[in-house]
Amino acid sequence: MGIVYCGPFTDAINEGTRYGHEGYGVQVLHDGTETRSWVREFREYRAGCDCGWRGRTVYPPTEAGETAAQDEWDTEHLQVLIYKVAHGKVVPATALLGLITGLRRELSAAVAARDFDEPLTERERGQCEVIEAIERHLYDAAVDAPGPARPTSGGTAARSGGAW
Ligand SMILES: [Zn+2]
Repeated sequence: MGIVYCGPFTDAINEGTRYGHEGYGVQVLHDGTETRSWVREFREYRAGCDCGWRGRTVYPPTEAGETAAQDEWDTEHLQVLIYKVAHGKVVPATALLGLITGLRRELSAAVAARDFDEPLTERERGQCEVIEAIERHLYDAAVDAPGPARPTSGGTAARSGGAW
């Protein structure tokens, strides 16, 4: 029995495969052939997957060798598949933070260039709404992640009508 991945993008990762991706330590017999049935005597382990992928490293025929082969499947095969799918479907937080930084800079320059009590233009109010919406999404995504605590309500909303 191998390791089956169940997580984000599972369906996309398994698309095009017959049985999906199940990783395991492949037992290689003394004649160099592989067996899927567990045998007591064999030459080595290699990382393998039900999709046909094989690792390049040879591991000793021990429990530690099997674990190392499974680790190779995870890092060299599964994580690569997850990254490829995620890369096309996820916007990095750094890109969103860069967008927010640019909008804040533009707003600050616009506000600084005129009288303090002059109201925000429609475009500037729209920029504030975009910043707040993106920040809300980032905070929601970060709720379970370790790091600084989520700001209390009024944090970004209180700033929307004021100077940046
Ligand atoms: Zn696979």
